[in-house]
Amino acid sequence: MPTSKAPFELMKLPYADNALEPVISARTISFHYGKHHATYVTNLNNMVKDTPYANLTLEQIVVKSAKDSAAKGIFNNSAQVWNHDFYWKSMKSGGGGAPGGKLKSAIEKDFGDVAKFKEAFGKAAVGQFGAGWAWLVAGKDGKLAITTTSNADTPVAHGEKALFTTDVWEHAYYLDYQNRRPDHVNDFLSKLINWDFAEKNLG
Ligand code: FE
Repeated sequence: MPTSKAPFELMKLPYADNALEPVISARTISFHYGKHHATYVTNLNNMVKDTPYANLTLEQIVVKSAKDSAAKGIFNNSAQVWNHDFYWKSMKSGGGGAPGGKLKSAIEKDFGDVAKFKEAFGKAAVGQFGAGWAWLVAGKDGKLAITTTSNADTPVAHGEKALFTTDVWEHAYYLDYQNRRPDHVNDFLSKLINWDFAEKNLG
């Protein structure tokens, strides 16, 4: 993970604004990345300024603020910066399909097969009530699991290693799918998921 400290910069997208169309339009990117994600970065920089958090990396800020009831705003904004950085990398143009190699074996071991995994992941993402995230994570024992988090919450705060995520806040899909979250999640899985990134995170 990056070791830079505040002030943080909005990450560069690893593809063009229209690369994820038609699932995620350039218009959605302009708001989701250009406004929502950018605002989390600005808020975080303003909040950590002249505090002990200013000397920490992004990941350290997330972990520390998760345990600090006086730092809820710092937690929400740092976690949302981390989650969105990770989300954009979890997708690519021409993604989807099936993982290869080590990740495929791990998924087969823990979920049966890739189709069953996708079904279970889709159910979890669609079933997350309200705003949040769905994740494939590796626990401390190395076992894979599907988890969901609410609002800004993140596996980073729970000592889990994230492999990929999808954002199920309405701002992620409403312009392109309106209320049809199941269709959006299905298209994320079949057309966008970046298995190479997930496999790299498995280590
Ligand atoms: Fe988002």
